[in-house]
Amino acid sequence: MDVVQTVSFALVKYLTVCSKIVSTDKNTDELDAKTFLNEYNSTAEVVWNAYTEASWKYNTDINEANKQLQKNLEMSAHTLKYGQKARLYDTTDFQDGSVKRTIKKLSDIERAALPSAELKEYNTLLSNMETKYSVAEVCRDNGTCHPLDPDLQKIMAESRDYDELLFAWKGWRDSAGKVLRQDYKRYVELANKAATLNGHSDNGAFWRSLYETPTFEEDLETLWKELEPLYQNVHAYVRRALYKKYGSKHINLKGPIPAHLLGNMWAQTWSGIMDLAMPYPHATQVDATPAMVAQGWNATRMFQESDRFFTSLGLLPMPKEFWEKSMLEKPSDGRQVVCHASAWDFYNRKDFRIKQCTVVTMDDLITVHHEMGHVQYFLQYKDQPVSFRDGANPGFHEAIGDVLALSVSTPKHLQSIGLLDKVETNHESDINFLMSMALDKIAFLPFGYLMDQWRWKVFDGRIPSTEYNKEWWNLRMKYQGLCPPVTRTEDDFDPGAKFHIPANVPYVRYFVSFIIQFQFHKALCDAAKHVGPLHTCDIYKSKEAGKLMGDVMKLGFSKPWPEAMTMITGQPKMSAQPLMQYFQPLIQWLEAENNKNKDIRGWPDYDWKPSTSSEIKSSKVDFLGMSVDGSAAMAGQWILLVLGVVLLVATILLAYRYRKSNKHEKSLSLLELKQKEIRDT
Ligand SMILES: [Zn+2]
Repeated sequence: MDVVQTVSFALVKYLTVCSKIVSTDKNTDELDAKTFLNEYNSTAEVVWNAYTEASWKYNTDINEANKQLQKNLEMSAHTLKYGQKARLYDTTDFQDGSVKRTIKKLSDIERAALPSAELKEYNTLLSNMETKYSVAEVCRDNGTCHPLDPDLQKIMAESRDYDELLFAWKGWRDSAGKVLRQDYKRYVELANKAATLNGHSDNGAFWRSLYETPTFEEDLETLWKELEPLYQNVHAYVRRALYKKYGSKHINLKGPIPAHLLGNMWAQTWSGIMDLAMPYPHATQVDATPAMVAQGWNATRMFQESDRFFTSLGLLPMPKEFWEKSMLEKPSDGRQVVCHASAWDFYNRKDFRIKQCTVVTMDDLITVHHEMGHVQYFLQYKDQPVSFRDGANPGFHEAIGDVLALSVSTPKHLQSIGLLDKVETNHESDINFLMSMALDKIAFLPFGYLMDQWRWKVFDGRIPSTEYNKEWWNLRMKYQGLCPPVTRTEDDFDPGAKFHIPANVPYVRYFVSFIIQFQFHKALCDAAKHVGPLHTCDIYKSKEAGKLMGDVMKLGFSKPWPEAMTMITGQPKMSAQPLMQYFQPLIQWLEAENNKNKDIRGWPDYDWKPSTSSEIKSSKVDFLGMSVDGSAAMAGQWILLVLGVVLLVATILLAYRYRKSNKHEKSLSLLELKQKEIRDT
């Protein structure tokens, strides 16, 4: 034994010496590495700040395409330069773990690895996709046009007219989705190329690597399987509520739910239809929107209220710059802006902003807390080196604001800030409250999971570009139990009608967040010495809870996330148990209610399709969405052909004139070089 060991040790030593001789260009000097990292840090702050300023200008005035491309390329050049140097270090024997961790992070240079022509193409492509999405509108026959924020969002949440909902749903996909299909195909190629140049098998593998968890995919699947029965109970209950409203023509009690009836453009959260799904209409209702409107709340008031909650926990107040420079409302001066809510770190340790087209609703009050959670994280880790100014993992960053919102949403807390006058403590009121939470938190889970299931498969080639839409709807069916209200084809590109797809923002972070935020909530409630059921806990004013959160946020990305998880919860893993505990009373209620109604969990009639007015009449032909007979359609086609030729000539002439007058506006650039902006769901 001994002999063999000695020989093998000698062999190892020999090989090590050899490799040192072969790779003479590898630098093993740790002190030198520290100096290098200091230089990287101070230069990165300057370059990233300049880029973020240019990007902010564009996001808050889409015509201001100015200088963005330039700043963007400067940032990539910086990443490339320091990334190449970082790759020259051999950190095997370094003592300082954070030096090793930073060098490793810098060595992945992401898109900066692309050849310069392709890098430019990629940046322009991303910018164009986000612009097309952000300026899309849906127009009516009378010429009125609706942007997504706030018009279409409002229709989806408030209208109970089947056809009006269909108009908004289909219109949005026609105007924001379809136009992105070709761009998206090219984007996938370039994103994959950048990922492989950094040593990943494809871009999806790169995204997953950010979680530093070899079993990440299996872990998520296990969590989903634990939660699926709960989702199917919510689904069955809501399906029956919709059946009562829309009838058997539009709802099949054994089938999937048409995707436009759930109160949200993407059916990602369902609280918009709480009025239809209210378990006990005569018990306490939990919508604070009417009181907010009646009391004249505005956007600033909503952010101040959130700021007050953070500081009550002993966390940091928003700095002066935040209040001066944020965009908290949609501008009314005609500027077009990227409305999707986002929080911004400007990397100079004092400038942090939020951009949100805030509407005075309870829903937006929750989003305000979500975004403020991001800024709180920025503030807490601002003194870390730039490489560590990030969440422990992307899900942590998304969870912080939501954790506070779990307390703010409780009827007791809403009453304490004057937004609910009647609060009863009885079982029926509890169930009403938990249902409203479930329509957001449980309904979201399969959507949060499937968005990146789709993209991972697109990136690794399991979904070819000829089946983008078909596979999208397969996943919507499989996980969410939803079907499209009208026929979809491969001319459509429905995934593109969701912000994070054109904006290149990974999504599984939200799935992770919706699970771990209940773990955090439970741990903080324990720290706050809460007694009683978990869903009644309000951590307001608990300095103990605040300290736990603050300590974890201060770490930023400097430690692997299981260490941060252990700091808060005492154990290192993601777990669905606290979420189940929070919803326990509702889980029992739903089980009994669905059994009483003999409702099937799941959607065995997955082939069923809802009938729409135009598709019912079989003898007629569908022509431009109108139901006409065959000969009329033929005549119409000829008229359209002639009109089409005339329009084509006119378009070419106009485009020529437009190009001449707007040449400088063509070179838009991207928005998220290192995914530094973190956004709302
Ligand atoms: Zn967010």
